[in-house]
Amino acid sequence: MREDKTLAVALDWITAHCVVPDGFERGRPLELYDYQFEFFKNFYLVRGDAKWVAEKPVLAPAFVYRRGLLVGPQKLGKGPMTAAHICLEAVGPALFAGWAKSGEVYDCADHGCRCGFYYEYEADEPKGMPWATPLIQITAISEEQTDNIYGALRPMIEYGPLADVIPKTGEEFIRLPGGGRIDTVTSSAQSRLGQRVTFVPQDECGLWTQTNGMAKVADTQFRGLAGMGGRASLTTNAWNPAENSVAQQQFESPSKDIYRQFRQPPSNLSYKNKVERRKIHQFVYGEALKQNGGHVDLDSIEAEAFDLIQRDLAQAERFFGNRVVAGSDTWLDPKVWDERLDRETPLKKGDAITIGFDGSLRDDSTALVGCRVEDGKLFVLGLWEAPEDQDEEWEVPVGEVDARVAWAFKEYNVQRMYCDPAYWQDIVGRWSSQFGDKKVFEWWTNRERAMVAALERFHTAALTAQLVHDGDENLTRHIHNAMRKETRSGLVIRKDRPKSPRKIDLAVCAVLAYEARGDVIQSGKVKKKAVFAGF
Ligand SMILES: [Zn+2]
Repeated sequence: MREDKTLAVALDWITAHCVVPDGFERGRPLELYDYQFEFFKNFYLVRGDAKWVAEKPVLAPAFVYRRGLLVGPQKLGKGPMTAAHICLEAVGPALFAGWAKSGEVYDCADHGCRCGFYYEYEADEPKGMPWATPLIQITAISEEQTDNIYGALRPMIEYGPLADVIPKTGEEFIRLPGGGRIDTVTSSAQSRLGQRVTFVPQDECGLWTQTNGMAKVADTQFRGLAGMGGRASLTTNAWNPAENSVAQQQFESPSKDIYRQFRQPPSNLSYKNKVERRKIHQFVYGEALKQNGGHVDLDSIEAEAFDLIQRDLAQAERFFGNRVVAGSDTWLDPKVWDERLDRETPLKKGDAITIGFDGSLRDDSTALVGCRVEDGKLFVLGLWEAPEDQDEEWEVPVGEVDARVAWAFKEYNVQRMYCDPAYWQDIVGRWSSQFGDKKVFEWWTNRERAMVAALERFHTAALTAQLVHDGDENLTRHIHNAMRKETRSGLVIRKDRPKSPRKIDLAVCAVLAYEARGDVIQSGKVKKKAVFAGF
């Protein structure tokens, strides 16, 4: 019986063809880190009992693993690694082509590449060959994430020997010789998902859940791959075990044909302790650290981790400490929210907007949030919070709130305003007669099912980059303060504890404003091209 052997020609092909995509080293041959080498070595491990039939290559079943899962901390270099993997699956010897006799070779010249690469097989090692028509889908929750990989892939092709084989890379997709192609897809591309795919890199699958539709995306792609004899490669940060993500399911699955690589730091080290945290970072970044000849600066990782710890310890521990921790019940991933920052396109007088309003009298804050119809940009119109050293007498200055609403209607083209009328029913009624009952609506946030649906739409929009915000500190603080709470109808948000000074009213307003925007768009009243992009 022959033992399982790695398709070594595939690994050699990568180092001969893939180049560093950016930075000062751009265009130099890509040197694989040991952890990347380890991943590829296993991904391309050929079963000792694989049989070669020339007319009908065995494809995926020739390999020990039908998919691979790599879990690693932020900035470890998973992007360039995935780009290299794509190059190999696109035009390199990614398939098993039988067992070599001594003297046989893989010669790039036979495959339309003039780089001069030439691999001499040893007797009885697996031979490689390229796909005839590879179809590759780079898949992630948001275009921003697919762009991360695609943005590394294009220069990797353009600045190295692969430019000879793939002369043109497009903004949107890449045509491959022989009719294959490389695309990027997100959940919004339902119709194209999983069609005849031969290789699917799935990125950040620790965020792929049932709720945001990505679990279904993964299933569709796995089915498509099974039909074509293709394989998937999953990369991610450590996940929140409360979310049952695709990464978690794949990691916990009893299937033996999933290769899993997840190097977890020693459990006796605490992430809260600065000295131990440094040890954790040293452990999980290892060879990728500058001090070890890599690209990662230990101090800047600490700075970023420390920054995130202030808002969400569990998140920081997952992202930089490479640990699966439930911890925090934060509703919206602070990292995701931070990524939605858009300082480029400020609000202008006359912009079509919607407004969300949440009022209180004493305990909570009263707030107004606007949302631009065109691009879903959120911004704060007003916030009235009791001062920190609150004396019993403080009350919301109703006159000021009133004046601010009137101002907003004058300054912007307000399409719709949703108000939680609790305590403010009279005033909301007056706004409705003043500004129009087709514009100002009561929207009771205590209607659990309606609220669950609105929150879910907002959450998905944030994840899929269909909304942005102007970086307002109060709005960001309230969003970070919002904790998740399971109810019979689904997920709602709450403060970290009753009477907590950590307010969430701006988050509620933002959800109402975004909900109003959705309804305005659905009613078809405001027709702007960009508006429909994500719907
Ligand atoms: Zn070549």
